[in-house]
Amino acid sequence: MLKFGGTSVKDAEAMRRVVGIVQRERGNRPVVVTSACAGITDMLLSTARSCGAGDLNGALQNVREIRQRHLEILHALGLPPERSCQEGLTTLLDELEQLARGVVLLGELTPRMLDAFASFGERLSSLLLGDAFRAAGWDAAVADSRQFIITDSNFVNASPLMPEIDARVAEHLAPLVQHHEVVVAQGFIGCTLQGITTTIGRGGSDHTGALVGAALRATEIQIWTDVSGILTADPRAVPQAVVVPHVTFTEARELAWFGAKVIHPDTIVPAVERAIPVVIKNSIRPNDAGTCILPDGSSVPCGIHSITMKRGMLSVMLGPRDPRATSLGFQKALETFAAHNLTVQCAAVAEARAIITVESAGFSDVILAGLEANYAVELMPEMAVIGLIGAGLRNQPGIISTPLSALGAIPISFVVAGSSDHIILLGVAEHHATEALQQTHRALFE
Ligand code: ADP
Ligand code: ASP
Ligand code: MG
Repeated sequence: MLKFGGTSVKDAEAMRRVVGIVQRERGNRPVVVTSACAGITDMLLSTARSCGAGDLNGALQNVREIRQRHLEILHALGLPPERSCQEGLTTLLDELEQLARGVVLLGELTPRMLDAFASFGERLSSLLLGDAFRAAGWDAAVADSRQFIITDSNFVNASPLMPEIDARVAEHLAPLVQHHEVVVAQGFIGCTLQGITTTIGRGGSDHTGALVGAALRATEIQIWTDVSGILTADPRAVPQAVVVPHVTFTEARELAWFGAKVIHPDTIVPAVERAIPVVIKNSIRPNDAGTCILPDGSSVPCGIHSITMKRGMLSVMLGPRDPRATSLGFQKALETFAAHNLTVQCAAVAEARAIITVESAGFSDVILAGLEANYAVELMPEMAVIGLIGAGLRNQPGIISTPLSALGAIPISFVVAGSSDHIILLGVAEHHATEALQQTHRALFE
């Protein structure tokens, strides 16, 4: 199973590169999972929001641009109309326009409708990628992932239902794989048991790739993207970052969860369950070795392997309402966050005080009131969490001294260490975050 991200299918040239990469698997009945062409999901969601706000002209302008981009790729791929996906593509684009008009008429945009909009990106790109294979002489089929990626109905962030996916992949996808040289399927989109289109969260095509790979019992899950694997830090913030050749499943999951966008955190779950190795590779430099994500327990060097940065955090300082109290039951605080589906990113507790960090976007006055009923509360907005990710971090003497001293004059609001062998977290103000990342990177890797 090979998954290609948005930049890897951004235009006809990129799609031809994809065909070149899959050529190495010709004869092995490869399945290709594709994202939408780069930028299209954002445009679709902005179209949806224009519709919800009653701005039909703005929405139709977006639809025209989306149409234009896909038609350009279609023409550049160069298949004659009777052999190309032109008819299917035009039908889909017309459907998108009708949806836009319909939502403007209704004057209401629900999460279910957002998913209907977002689904067009992968539905369009997969048709074009099928053409790219056909233009190169392959017998290619395009599958509809909504026939087998069955999810709950938590629109916008739906959870895949693995037993159902196993059964449907056997029923709908496996026969296509048997009868064609390559099958292209859409990432990101799914369908409820009732047949309503869903999406599984931004960046979710990685997860689809892993689900399909797991259901087909693939020998390997290949995630092809625009960097040569997992790097020591996000290269946009740290251009000196270098590739980490091997990480374990747990490390990769922590890395993704604490901000490394290169892989979606849920991707690892289906791979772990079936012990399928995952490799991350660069579609622009396909001969680079990339990163192998290996089952836990595999031998990887001890130490810090990479650094992540997660912005948009809020740290909540809790103390007792009675200043004479010497202990703080902070269970009630966790219950308050859980009751509002707000995941605790990390917590540091000492005697009668705790500092709990959550994503700012999920926090609200209702949660604040719930906390204030039990604690004296102080909020620290605009925080970031720097994650030092690696292996064997728990019992290594001196492991934390290099990054801490690298921060120099940058104030550290909290440190969470020792709770995991794979991660040490540092809390800093958001305006110091990039600098903190760069300085720790310099001290550890440069
Ligand atoms: P795709 O569209 O292929 O899924 P993404 O944009 O989702 O690609 O992920 C790749 C991007 O992840 C890279 O371009 C890079 O900027 C970012 N990234 C963040 N952290 C890391 C990291 N530690 N290693 C590699 N890439 C990272
Ligand atoms: N196209 C979707 C997004 O932009 C899914 C993905 O690319 O993984 O979020
Ligand atoms: Mg991605």
